[in-house]
Amino acid sequence: MVTILDKTFGPFLSQDDIERRIGEMAAQINEDYHGKTPIFIVVLNGAFLFASELLKRLDLSCEVSFVRLASYEHLASTGTVREIMGLQEDIKDRDVVVIEDIVDTGLTMHQLLQQLQSKQPSSLVVATLLHKPEALVAPVTLQYAGFEIENKFVVGYGLDYDGLGRNLNAIYVLQQPS
Ligand code: 5GP
Repeated sequence: MVTILDKTFGPFLSQDDIERRIGEMAAQINEDYHGKTPIFIVVLNGAFLFASELLKRLDLSCEVSFVRLASYEHLASTGTVREIMGLQEDIKDRDVVVIEDIVDTGLTMHQLLQQLQSKQPSSLVVATLLHKPEALVAPVTLQYAGFEIENKFVVGYGLDYDGLGRNLNAIYVLQQPS
């Protein structure tokens, strides 16, 4: 169990489980992008650990860029529209892979993909460590998805609760008070 502020979180996915799955995702990406030079766009802050584990397993010539977007406040999505901040590279005619920690309603990713699509990449796909199929409301396709999870709040491995818990080396799920 892990306590963060006023909440208790129980074990959910171990570091071994996560990294084994990231290895499988990397193998698939290596195969799919063989001979290409994709650009990976890492969505900060949450995707930083997933991205580093994924990218170091890639046997590809690639570029890596970091952007910032809307973040969760407390336990509920703000639903705010935010611009992409920090994208310096021209992605026109490039193969783009967005690296995200979690896709929940998909609204954030949908907005991000629309903004990136307007820059005319030759391809644009998503690699997310986690997604919550039951919560998905936006029409987003997740080309590479690590784990399908229940519609519960999780922390660790880059994901935070009120700014804390990102450094946990495993993923923990919010315990409901009994
Ligand atoms: P969406 O727009 O898909 O509803 O939300 C995406 C963002 O919400 C993610 O990038 C992440 O920051 C945050 N988020 C969604 N579900 C969770 C969760 O279970 N735990 C944490 N820590 N953040 C989440």
